[in-house]
Amino acid sequence: MQVQFDKSVFQAALTRQWQRFGLHQAQEMTPHQWWQATSAALSEQLNASPLPPAAKQPQRHVNYISMEFLIGRLTANNLINLGWMAPVQEVLKEQGVELADVLEQEVDPALGNGGLGRLAACFLDSMATVGQPATGYGLNYQYGLFRQSFRDGEQQEAPDNWHRESYPWFCHNSALSVDVGFGGMLLKQDDGREHWIPEFSLRGEAWDLPVVGYQNGVTQPLRLWKAGAVQPFDLGRFNDGEFLKAEKQGVEAEKLTKVLYPNDHHQAGKRLRLMQQYFQCACSVADILRRHHFLGRKIEDLPRYEVIQLNDTHPTIAIPELLRILLDEQQLEWDAAWTIVSQTFAYTNHTLMPEALECWDEKLVRSLLPRHFSLIKQINARFKKVVEQRWPGDKRVWEKLSIHQNKQVRMANLCVVSGFAVNGVAALHSDLVVKDLFPEYHQLWPQKFHNVTNGITPRRWLKQCNPALAALIDSKLNVEWLTDLDALKGLEAFADDRAFQQAYQNIKQENKRRLTHYVQQTMGITLNPEAIFDVQIKRLHEYKRQHLNLLHILSLYRQLRDNPERDCVPRVFLFGAKAAPGYYLAKNIIHAINKVAEKINNDPLVGDRLKVVFIPDYKVSVAELMIPAADVSEQISTAGKEASGTGNMKLALNGALTVGTLDGANVEIAEQVGDEHIFIFGKTVDEVKALLSAGYDPLKLRKQDKHLNSLLKELENGFFSGGDKTAFKPLLDSLLSGGDPYLVLADFADYCAAQQRVDVLYRDATQWTRSAILNTARVGMFSSDRSIRDYQQRIWQAKR
Ligand SMILES: *Cc1c(COP(=O)(O)O)cnc(C)c1O
Repeated sequence: MQVQFDKSVFQAALTRQWQRFGLHQAQEMTPHQWWQATSAALSEQLNASPLPPAAKQPQRHVNYISMEFLIGRLTANNLINLGWMAPVQEVLKEQGVELADVLEQEVDPALGNGGLGRLAACFLDSMATVGQPATGYGLNYQYGLFRQSFRDGEQQEAPDNWHRESYPWFCHNSALSVDVGFGGMLLKQDDGREHWIPEFSLRGEAWDLPVVGYQNGVTQPLRLWKAGAVQPFDLGRFNDGEFLKAEKQGVEAEKLTKVLYPNDHHQAGKRLRLMQQYFQCACSVADILRRHHFLGRKIEDLPRYEVIQLNDTHPTIAIPELLRILLDEQQLEWDAAWTIVSQTFAYTNHTLMPEALECWDEKLVRSLLPRHFSLIKQINARFKKVVEQRWPGDKRVWEKLSIHQNKQVRMANLCVVSGFAVNGVAALHSDLVVKDLFPEYHQLWPQKFHNVTNGITPRRWLKQCNPALAALIDSKLNVEWLTDLDALKGLEAFADDRAFQQAYQNIKQENKRRLTHYVQQTMGITLNPEAIFDVQIKRLHEYKRQHLNLLHILSLYRQLRDNPERDCVPRVFLFGAKAAPGYYLAKNIIHAINKVAEKINNDPLVGDRLKVVFIPDYKVSVAELMIPAADVSEQISTAGKEASGTGNMKLALNGALTVGTLDGANVEIAEQVGDEHIFIFGKTVDEVKALLSAGYDPLKLRKQDKHLNSLLKELENGFFSGGDKTAFKPLLDSLLSGGDPYLVLADFADYCAAQQRVDVLYRDATQWTRSAILNTARVGMFSSDRSIRDYQQRIWQAKR
């Protein structure tokens, strides 16, 4: 049940667009205006399409709240999902314009940092596709994640103004605006209830982006809130001579949704960030309740019709916000209100790392949200009785479980206590959530805990980014594999088919040439498309261990110089990663990789055998270019640190072989593809724990391993940094005197051994291609459609 494309309607809309630009004919448009006009015309046609009929069986509506939605470019994706790519291409061709060129004009709306935001985007695509009624709720940031460039190898950050003001896919509805209060004080009323009088309010405007299901006629909103002043010009205050105060509010308001915090797996405890969180949650909860009331439903029935899924703890303040509305506005008693709240929220945990678990200073919470702080204390006081009953007099357990402890509010604890479900994002991670992070909570409420392994949408991560491979699959499988990715299993029958192998290989080769062209154009570096393209793309973080990859590159370079005639398989190491601007060590790792790259790429002795490329400004559109061209996928986090990973899934689906630790979803990828088709190395979670508790000494390791020692020496003695011996000090300190907390040196030897196995297999082109095909064929379970069905069965629609 597709939405029908109407050529004449589209052409008329296109005409209105160039007329609006003040032009006399379509041909006067710049390439960017063509993108603008095409997208706006499509948006208009989409909005005019009738809504799909309501589902007969009412399912709970999912409200997916996330601080980040890393949606990537929308125009191509929407054309694919609408099934309108070919007809629109035709209309533009009649005007002498190439659709592909037009699509390249779109700037990524980079409204997220990394995996967490991209997951939210994949889930929206899948919910629309499997027919799960849903609304995504987020913030409409003016500046997305910063733009990255390099100067002398060091990361430079520039603001990413993605021009939300003129983004053609937005649809603004002023009737949906919500006013949100901040600060102020609490008054005790005669009946004992508290009354909150905020100091000031901000207005949230609803800006919707369409989420289009795959060729099923479904479109549902991603609603992004933009902050503004309640009254841009407060006449009352002006007359009172308080103009400056009013104006100050206007300035504050604008500021609130100006920037996305550029932190991944780290929380900073900043006031503006907490304001953003509350603003987003208050707008979203108000919107959910408005819809509920509009449909004539009773407030007690809220959990029957609505579920609120919290993407990590960032939107946790939605919990006391709903409680506040039920108590203070709906005038419910505590028990009735709590029953509703505790059946409405579900929480997804994304990390076990202490520095990423959100805690807020009680002073900050109390001053910004006095009523919410009071409610959190009441929730905690009631919860204390439950703990007291289970562990009488055990102070240690209470200190662990308490929501409010050491003058901090712990958001994860609030989620577990208040929600009806908690899930991890891969089997291993969900296990560790229960065993290491929340064991006592699990003893109290075992039924709350679930696993839902993450997934990726095959619409963007195969059909859109690798159309040639999608077409090859179409030619072999007579099923709608794109909405039933397990059907890729059918490709196993062709894994040994010579003609199929050749076709598969040709596509990879063509994708490598496309990337080679991009690197040539943007960086002036010439790559050899015959080499192994070895790709590590993800946010820069110590736990992801880009520096382990670097040490292996140093090792190969050392071996080439020790033995210049060495017969080796040529390799291109490709990186893409942004480091948080305040993460000094991460930025130092980028600098080190770039300086090493400079030396190696310009060493005539090396020639074509080794190249290192750090592609600047990694984002969704760059990922779409790199992933189809990858032969090797680097997934080398310290075991126990990467909750799931989704880059690993995208790369395997596109036929890259994984070099990885037994961490996150790598474990399940290995199970699916089979041990012969993946390169697993390194310490396991248990071995990591054992080594750290036995006392790990990286300096001893260095002493024992002469080769490793020589590599470290070259980083120390200025060989790669023009004689500057301090250039990589932060990196070296963390590996050596800093105790190497992520066990880079401990896993180094085994990592190099795995890389040698890669070389051996790559020399046998037939066997390599067979393995690549089997990766594509066997990773169907990592479709985010499957993740969404798991959420439906285990969490959203489960009988309780
Ligand atoms: C998929 C994706 C990520 C997540 O990558 P991981 O390797 O799972 O950390 C980050 N950024 C972008 C742009 C992505 O597309």
